Amino acid sequence: MPEACQFLDGCPMFAYFCRAAKKVYREMYCEGDFAACARRQLRMENNPVPDNLLPHGSTLWDDHQKPPKYWE
Ligand code: SF4
Repeated sequence: MPEACQFLDGCPMFAYFCRAAKKVYREMYCEGDFAACARRQLRMENNPVPDNLLPHGSTLWDDHQKPPKYWE
């Protein structure tokens, strides 16, 4: 079994996080239990992955909204 998610390089999720949050998600999912990542599960099934989807299945902003300005 690989030690990290094969989508780690360039995973778009990291564009929306500060350094500390990146580290937490990376340790918990990308280099930990990546099989449990909701983003990865969609991607493995060749489904689109919403930008706002978090690894634990929650969303970073509401589906009908755009990311907050400070993330653009
Ligand atoms: S957030 Fe999910 S899909 Fe992205 S690198 Fe981490 S485990 Fe893989």
